[in-house]
Amino acid sequence: MTLKALDLFHVAVPLKKPIKHASHERTTSDSLVVRATLDDGQVGYGEGVPRPYVTGETIESTFASLSGFDFARHLGRPTSFEDVVRRLEALVLPETEADPRGMAGNAARCALELALLDAYGRHFRESLGQAVRMVEVPGLQRTDAPSRVRYSGAIMADSTAKERISAWKMRLYGFAQVKLKVGVQGQDDPARLARLRRILGHRIDLRLDANEAWHSLELVDRVRPLLPFGPSVLEQPVPHAESDSLADLRPKLGMPIMLDESLCGYPDATRAIERGTADVLNVRLSKCGGVVPSLRIIGLAQRQGLGLQLGCHPGETGILSAAGRHLAANLRGLRYVEGSYDRHVLAANLIVEDITFRYGGWAPPLAGPGLGVTVNPEALERMAVDRKEISYE
Ligand SMILES: [Mg+2]
Repeated sequence: MTLKALDLFHVAVPLKKPIKHASHERTTSDSLVVRATLDDGQVGYGEGVPRPYVTGETIESTFASLSGFDFARHLGRPTSFEDVVRRLEALVLPETEADPRGMAGNAARCALELALLDAYGRHFRESLGQAVRMVEVPGLQRTDAPSRVRYSGAIMADSTAKERISAWKMRLYGFAQVKLKVGVQGQDDPARLARLRRILGHRIDLRLDANEAWHSLELVDRVRPLLPFGPSVLEQPVPHAESDSLADLRPKLGMPIMLDESLCGYPDATRAIERGTADVLNVRLSKCGGVVPSLRIIGLAQRQGLGLQLGCHPGETGILSAAGRHLAANLRGLRYVEGSYDRHVLAANLIVEDITFRYGGWAPPLAGPGLGVTVNPEALERMAVDRKEISYE
C-alpha cells in the first residue's frame, strides 16, 4: 500500500475566547492539517501547530518542508503497521538534521506522521496507541494496557474577577492539578497565588508557567515570594538564550524547573541533562516532531530520572487532542498531562466526536483504527484558508 498524495491545509481554527497580544487580538488559531491518501483511497489526517516563537516554523515553512521531500519513496510499500512504524522511525527531515536544536520542521513532521499513522492504521486496522507500543525506545515506560488519562486545568493571566471565576471552575470541576501563567507585566503574582490558593485549597497541585518572562539575574528574587503558596514546579522561567544559567540557579530556587521553550528537539533534551538545567521536561507532540521523536525524548527523560509533562498547544484541534490521548493512555510516569480542552477552547472543531476531558479532568482511552476520531471534511473546507496538493503518482 503506497502513499498516493498529500493535501496540506492551512486552517484558521475559530476560538471561543480571543488570544490577546500586546498590539492586537485574534480569534483564530493557525494549524497545519495534512491529509494523506493511500493508493486504495484510504485517507488519514494529522495536525501540527507551527509557531515562529517555538520551533521557528510558520505555516509557509511547513508547506515548503513537506513539498521538498519524496515521502512516498521513503515509505515504500509497507506490509504491516509495524513496518510503517519502522519506516517512520527512520524518517528525519533534512532541516531537522541540519538544525543544532533538532527543531526545524518539527510541526511539519508531526502533521505528516500523524496523517500516515492514521491512514495506515485504518488500512491495517491498528490504532495510533498501538504505534506508541511498537516504537523502539530503550527504557520507555508503557502502561500494561491503554488506560484512562487525567488532564490538568490551566488558569491564564487575566483580570482578578476572571481569574477568581476560573479558579472556582477548576475546583468545582474536580481537577487534581492546575497550571497558572505567571510573569505577566503589571500583575502581582504573590497576591494572585494567595487569592487562588484560598479558592483552590492546599491539596491541589498548583504549578507555574512563566513563558520566559524573567531574567536569570532576578530569578531568585522573583521566585522567593511565590514559595509560601507551595507551587509544585516552575515552567520555563527564563528565555531560552539564558537557559544554561538554570544549572546554577536550580538548586537555589526551592522548586523544580520544567523546560518548555528550551525543549523542542532531542539535542535540547541531551543538553538540558548534560548541563543539569531541568527537573522536568515538557514534551509536546507538534513542538517535538510527532510520536517517534516525542517518545525518544520521553524515554531519555525516563532513563535519566527526569519528570515529564505531556503538553499541548493552545488552539490545537481534536486531531492533536486524539493523538495526545493515545500517547498518554499508553505511557506510564507522566507527571502532568495537558490537552483535550476542545469544547472549552474551540468555537468549532475538525472532528465529529467530542473527546473533551470530563469531570476531574478524566478522559477514556481512544480505540482505533488510526486516530480513532472522524475528521469532518466540510469543517475542514470551512476552516481552510490555503492549501497545496502533492501527488506522488
Ligand atoms: Mg509552557
